[in-house]
Amino acid sequence: MGAETYRFKIGAFNCLAVSDGTFVYPAEMVFANAPKEEYEAALGERRLSLDKIETPYTCLYLDTGGHRVLLDTGAGKLAPTTGRLVKNLLSEGIDPETIDTVILTHGHPDHIGGNLDSKGNLTFPNARYVMSREEWDFWASKPDLSGLKCDDHLKQLLLQYARDMLPPIRHQVGLIDGEAEILPGVRTLAAPGHTPGHIALEISSQGEVLIDAVDAVLHPILIDRPDWYSVVDLLPDKALASRRRLLERAADSGATLMAFHFPFPGLGRVRRTKLGFSYTPGSGNTG
Ligand SMILES: [Zn+2]
Repeated sequence: MGAETYRFKIGAFNCLAVSDGTFVYPAEMVFANAPKEEYEAALGERRLSLDKIETPYTCLYLDTGGHRVLLDTGAGKLAPTTGRLVKNLLSEGIDPETIDTVILTHGHPDHIGGNLDSKGNLTFPNARYVMSREEWDFWASKPDLSGLKCDDHLKQLLLQYARDMLPPIRHQVGLIDGEAEILPGVRTLAAPGHTPGHIALEISSQGEVLIDAVDAVLHPILIDRPDWYSVVDLLPDKALASRRRLLERAADSGATLMAFHFPFPGLGRVRRTKLGFSYTPGSGNTG
């Protein structure tokens, strides 16, 4: 593997893009409604494999000065190639016990799968957890996954992870409605569609802004093709609207854009074009 951590600054905040590993998805899962020849052409232009999408899982760690914040806990034991988050945090001198805030953007396995360690204890035992109420309630009830175009095996996996990984944090989770400032400079943005209560994050310090779109954009090609969605977007119309809103916000504010599944470290810039948006990967201000 290449680098698994990347330090950068947003204003006064020390940020760390930290890899939990990677996973390979069939291209037709990522581009569910796209004509095969069109997504293959887009992959070919980028000299990428036409049938397999190697997909990074990149969490964000933030030291605001007063707080140590983690965005998502990775996939844990989902695959032999995942579950590297804690090792990578430790390699940067960050003890999981010192993290005081864990924001869970949504209830999918690759974002909550590291809530528990191999002994079944909380990986981040001293943290307050934050999740959207809509997301929590969705997974805590009988989730209706009939809108997903993926197979039953994957649907069962989604249900299993939510059952295993969410109840253990129930005494430490704070549920938010819509958009909220969790800490000074750390704000959630409602970005529903991928899941019913999926949230994105806006981090601001000293006039610099980072928007972490998380899973509102699953692949850079989906910035060029705002009409394409994936088999794991539960509510495609809402997902596309959320994606567009976040891209507009990032383009108009000059924010750095981060996305959980983009090539590591997942940072870049987006700007408006005549027809939509264009994306330039870039690694931010290393300060
Ligand atoms: Zn994801």
